[in-house]
Amino acid sequence: MSRAPGAPDGARCDAAGCGRRVYCGSLCRGHYRRKRCGLPVDVPLRRWGRSGWEALADAMLAYADASAEDREEFRRASHNARVAAVRYARALADKVTK
Ligand SMILES: [Zn+2]
Repeated sequence: MSRAPGAPDGARCDAAGCGRRVYCGSLCRGHYRRKRCGLPVDVPLRRWGRSGWEALADAMLAYADASAEDREEFRRASHNARVAAVRYARALADKVTK
């Protein structure tokens, strides 16, 4: 795996709540790919091995913990919770229709 020059070892992705290792610029591989594809970067990436329910529960807990005084943190947590809810709903719908 190549690393962009200047990305310090141990640097973490800039996207909210990500924490993955930097791949290029200030973003991890997944968020960098989203940026290159013109997709919003500020969304949580899917964590493999974690069920949709766990992802939704984590996002909702983060939303509940988010400081209402920090508008940006609150907005992100709200957005992430909504994304997790939609993913979970889609996963349930897939199960029902298959
Ligand atoms: Zn990332």
